[in-house]
Amino acid sequence: MKDQTASLKTSLDILPANSPVRETRQIWDKVLKHLRERYGQAVCESWLKSVEVSDHDQGTITLIVPTRFKRDWIITHYAEAILSIWQQMDNTIYSIDVLVASTKLKEVGPEAKNEESEVRKEHIHPPVTWSAILDPRYTFENFIIGKPNEFAYAAAFNVATSPKAALGSNPLFLCGGVGLGKTHLMHAIAWHIRRNQPERNVIYISAEKFMYQFITALRNKDILSFKEKFRAVDVLMIDDVQFIGGKDSTQEEFFHTFNALIDQNRQLVISADRSPSDLDGIEERIRSRLGWGLVADINPTTYELRLGILQSKAEQMEVQVPSEVLEFLAHKITSNIRELEGALNKVIAHSNLVGRAITLEGTQDILRNLLRAHEKTITIEEIQRKVAEHYNIKLIDMHSARRSRYIARPRQIAMYLTKKLTQYSLPEIGRRFGGKDHTTVIHAIKTIEMLIEKRKEIADDVALLSRMLQ
Ligand code: ADP
Ligand code: MG
Repeated sequence: MKDQTASLKTSLDILPANSPVRETRQIWDKVLKHLRERYGQAVCESWLKSVEVSDHDQGTITLIVPTRFKRDWIITHYAEAILSIWQQMDNTIYSIDVLVASTKLKEVGPEAKNEESEVRKEHIHPPVTWSAILDPRYTFENFIIGKPNEFAYAAAFNVATSPKAALGSNPLFLCGGVGLGKTHLMHAIAWHIRRNQPERNVIYISAEKFMYQFITALRNKDILSFKEKFRAVDVLMIDDVQFIGGKDSTQEEFFHTFNALIDQNRQLVISADRSPSDLDGIEERIRSRLGWGLVADINPTTYELRLGILQSKAEQMEVQVPSEVLEFLAHKITSNIRELEGALNKVIAHSNLVGRAITLEGTQDILRNLLRAHEKTITIEEIQRKVAEHYNIKLIDMHSARRSRYIARPRQIAMYLTKKLTQYSLPEIGRRFGGKDHTTVIHAIKTIEMLIEKRKEIADDVALLSRMLQ
């Protein structure tokens, strides 16, 4: 640590007092102090000692490190912490780039390192600028394959393992709903290439950030240097392009840049929560171009996939979770994988906290809130429709005032199920069943509760309907 502050001091001394570089370095010194407190002296010695900070530019801090290996390590382990500490001192900063100083530069010798970093910027190679931080857990090894995602996985793996842009898969367009693994697969491609073909340059960036950079360049009439930056990029991945959109002229330029990259045989990987043809606010021509390569869908999860993912996560965390708990979660949380993981984490965290083993009952308790939120997605209309279908009555009779039993009973069952499966209040339920009073709803619920006790065929009907609705 001493060495480093010494070397920084040297460079600080030659800078004027009000230099922005000086200011940046002073902040960096403070950041280092925080990091030392958080991670210990040893970590700072081995990883952060040789890092140099360059002046920041449009909200981005640039760190310069001697090797690719260090770059990757710092990006995955410390970049987020550095950014958040930095933001506490300067809230105009929103991202961090970690660059590798060129080998040429290293040959110049250690003195060169103390020079103004602006000088060095020109030597920087490779330009990993803009690549967002990659999550170290998002690898192919950690990706569980099942029917819904096997095609997308294979397509992503093919891109990651081909030495050049993958034939017939350029661009690779990953599409699927929220939390189904698009980002995971993109990071996995990046990790795989960084590990196995380190000479290839991979950029992973959100569509929003990409567009922001793009529009800024456009505004500054700097589009040439924008394109220039991509010359050294072999694989460009843009996540969540459903957020792209904009003025015609912007799209026009974007389209050209995009075409140029493909013409130069750069691999593009794009993701969106919908298919190219469903992207709003994007010109037809661009939409169709996005679908020219390979469009790989990630479909909603199946029970088997959800169970497989839970088993693997529990194993990764080295926690013993009873299989009935995993089955319960896989059965109950069907929306997406992010929520599934969240639920498992909650259960594990809770058992750690109270120091008790994980049980099915405990899990049901903990997740009551979460499940309730999930059950909200069952609508009254769905319940009314299913119940009407089941009893062969008209949907409109769910709202009618007819009292004959063959209509009134199904209506009461529908009210009962609405109370059980949704968050609606009694008066609201009354309103949605043709403007009835809440006492009518209470009466319906009591009647059905009583009938469930007394009559098996009613109990069976209610159980079946409630299973179908969930
Ligand atoms: P998306 O980008 O499609 O919204 P993510 O890639 O962020 O979804 O995935 C959400 C979470 O689910 C992440 O934590 C990811 O690791 C996990 N996940 C998704 N698919 C899988 C899978 N097949 N195997 C293991 N984990 C997965
Ligand atoms: Mg995502």
